Amino acid sequence: MSDIWSEALEGLEPRLGAQTFDLWLRPIALRKVEEDRLHLTAPNRFMKEWFENHYLGVVLDEIRARTERSFRVEIEVLPEAAQAHTTRKAHSEPEPNPLASPGLAVLPAHTAEEVEPMASAAKLPAPELSPTAIPVVVVAPPRAEAPKLSPRYRFESFIHGASNELAASAAWAAAEQPGKRFNPLFIYGGVGLGKTHLLHAIGHHIYERSPDQRIVLQSAERFMNEFISAVRSNSFDEFRRRYREDCDVLLIDDIQFIAGRDRTMDEFFHVFNALYEAGKQIVVTADRVPGDMQGMEERLTSRLNWGLVADVKAPDLETRVAILRQKAEREGIDIADDVTLHVASLIRSNVRELEGALVRVSTFAALKGAEITADFATSVLGDQVTAEAPPPLTIETIQKTVANHFSVRIADLKGPRRHKGIARPRMIAMYLSRELTSASFPEIGMRFGGKDHSTVINACKRIGALQAQEPELAANVKSLRRQLHAQHPELT
Ligand code: ADP
Ligand code: MG
Repeated sequence: MSDIWSEALEGLEPRLGAQTFDLWLRPIALRKVEEDRLHLTAPNRFMKEWFENHYLGVVLDEIRARTERSFRVEIEVLPEAAQAHTTRKAHSEPEPNPLASPGLAVLPAHTAEEVEPMASAAKLPAPELSPTAIPVVVVAPPRAEAPKLSPRYRFESFIHGASNELAASAAWAAAEQPGKRFNPLFIYGGVGLGKTHLLHAIGHHIYERSPDQRIVLQSAERFMNEFISAVRSNSFDEFRRRYREDCDVLLIDDIQFIAGRDRTMDEFFHVFNALYEAGKQIVVTADRVPGDMQGMEERLTSRLNWGLVADVKAPDLETRVAILRQKAEREGIDIADDVTLHVASLIRSNVRELEGALVRVSTFAALKGAEITADFATSVLGDQVTAEAPPPLTIETIQKTVANHFSVRIADLKGPRRHKGIARPRMIAMYLSRELTSASFPEIGMRFGGKDHSTVINACKRIGALQAQEPELAANVKSLRRQLHAQHPELT
């Protein structure tokens, strides 16, 4: 039966993505099976609840599909001692060192005691606590200055979907245990996809639970301006105190802004080091991965890669519909489901524009006294819709196309097997990802099951060279390139 469990998990990996899989599913283990009941273990309550709320359903579906049996599940949080034991048994390698291996390896084992009860914030139910476990809350007046946070940007109002799952769950985890789990957390992605929203949500969450935490949320641009004026007006000490000493949580938005600004980068580097060494949580957003920010100092880029790097992508249709529904409800806009669906299918690549579209349609309707129908929405949004760019080619699409072409599994492309029949397609997929998308080497490595960027660089070099020597390989690359171009005419 434990085979079924590991097979089901393996089957799910390609669907969920290696990162999500490593973060949230791998730590859950099957202890025993009793009739129709699976006894699972989780390393802490946080992981247990996150798993139950987000992944249990799909895992059970997968098992049902494989065994044609339905199971019920009990998840036990392992006490610390047992956990150390099983961890040692399960992995013989030493504890992952977050500095040496960025991103995926950062899964420190937390004890149940360390994890505080979950708030209802991310739509997770409050855990059941035994009377002895109820924490004593001493209400102290807030000591820190209230951070400047937008009241709209909270976890409760952030809609989850496949496009933002990793970023949202990592943001939540960082807010639950600041400085402990994902530090620094780096969130990147295109415009209007929720990065700033998540940054504020982290701030709210931490501040509400620990009002004494000094939270500094700032755009990188403001950081730079404050720095320059501090230097000019001889008030540098004050600046230094604000960012290095009087700061428990630093949330910096749009860090790409300081790339190429040497003195600001230098100052940020020192701020980063001071806070990091003191175990303070740092969260940074940007429009691209650290390695792709031209003009960003290498020592800064490498630090930004130390913790977890998570992306936000354009949301899928279902998520867009959910975002629109929420927005309509909050703004008191009365709009039929079919129209919501219609607007969500017209505006695809930017949540800010999606929300803007809803407001535009409802404002026009009110002005004209018209009913909001799908046709009315199209007529109002016409120009905006034609300006929408087609969705860009993704590494996932490349993987799918390459896997199909060579009849291998996507899981193998992401996995460690070095057999030539798999290693070659994997290298070709990496090569095409580099050629046809804007992803950096580290990002490509990440999407191939968390491989190092040097592996990707080598793969690209080898495929480049092998094409001259092996006509069959060259023909395969050419055919794949043609297939991908056909799916994405914008590439030519
Ligand atoms: P970014 O910083 O990535 O450019 P923002 O965080 O400013 O984007 O988001 C733009 C708008 O879209 C905001 O109003 C934000 O609340 C909304 N938004 C983005 N993603 C989501 C989401 N997943 N759920 C709800 N609202 C979202
Ligand atoms: Mg932003």
